[in-house]
Amino acid sequence: MEEIKKKNILVTGGAGFIGSHLCKVLVNLGNYVICLDNLFTGSINNISDLRDNVNFEFVNHDITEPYFRDNIDEIYNLACPASPKHYQYNPIKTVKTCTIGVINMLGLAKKNNAKILQASTSEVYGDPNVHPQDERYNGNVNPVGLRSCYDEGKRCSETLFMDYHREHNLKIKIIRIFNTFGPNMAKNDGRVISNFVMQAIRNEEITIYGDGSQTRSFLYVDDLIDAMIKMMNANNNFIGPINIGNPHEISMNKLASTILRLTNSKSQFIYRDLPEDDPKRRNPDINLAKNKLNWTPFCSLEVGLSNTINYFKKINEIN
Ligand code: NAD
Ligand code: UDP
Repeated sequence: MEEIKKKNILVTGGAGFIGSHLCKVLVNLGNYVICLDNLFTGSINNISDLRDNVNFEFVNHDITEPYFRDNIDEIYNLACPASPKHYQYNPIKTVKTCTIGVINMLGLAKKNNAKILQASTSEVYGDPNVHPQDERYNGNVNPVGLRSCYDEGKRCSETLFMDYHREHNLKIKIIRIFNTFGPNMAKNDGRVISNFVMQAIRNEEITIYGDGSQTRSFLYVDDLIDAMIKMMNANNNFIGPINIGNPHEISMNKLASTILRLTNSKSQFIYRDLPEDDPKRRNPDINLAKNKLNWTPFCSLEVGLSNTINYFKKINEIN
């Protein structure tokens, strides 16, 4: 990890899965971190190790409401539910978070002359018909489907970032994160790795949606945090968007067998209906990240899954 100067850094969504890892690393690097979160999908448990740290502050705040603060150097904007179950729970709120919330954070960055990074997503490519996806691909998104509150919301966030950059010369960064996993994922978030691991640990049926041939490419959270910080610290002229993901593509059938093997589980597979607009394949082209950030993922799927399984076993024992 690169050495960085002490800064005041705001992390929205900092009590969530990715945000909690980011806050921890930024504090460990010697920064003062303000974690802004409305605890919709995040949890105080995720940041319990940081609560007593003098370089860490938690603020319970919803980014769809304006937030005023001086002396902020950098903002990482992660606030937004990320799992289909959670972002579809209140789709209008998801759109508000991605638009009104993003405008509030861009305004805050503008007042502070702070650099701001947007956690965008591979979902801006929708159900892609080009493989692998590179940053020049404009995607194949259904604007009226059940996933569109998130997909179109995140696309609009990128638009707002670009327009603040063009109109106000704001220092921005946009990263497009592909499926990421690891400790601190919520066990009930409905995402595939949390579902399969919890089901396997409890010897319950593993729910494969569709025929299980659809693919994803899974990135371990530590690799993502490394890339986020590298991107924030990259030359101001390099704004992205940039794909951050692991190019290792795997079907949901293969993922389920791998998790079964790593957990020694007796679970059986059960096939359920594929959700609407579920992308068939997703695979990042990461040449830009390799060239511009000198970044490439380090953690293998099996090592990442083993760490995640250990985490879920621990919280399964507690609850
Ligand atoms: P998460 O649900 O664990 O974290 C999101 C956090 O944002 C939670 O703590 C939640 O309480 C908070 N939040 C939601 N709406 C808010 C609002 N209006 N105001 C303040 N806080 C709010 O999800 P995550 O996986 O950690 O994702 C973090 C970010 O990364 C999201 O923006 C997501 O879109 C993006 N992302 C994640 C993935 C992934 O695979 N995990 C992939 C692509 C993009
Ligand atoms: N999925 C599955 N079983 C589950 C949960 C998800 O087969 O219990 C599938 C889902 O249909 C999708 C893939 O796993 O094809 C990844 O789903 P997730 O919700 O984790 O992420 P996203 O669809 O947003 O990439």
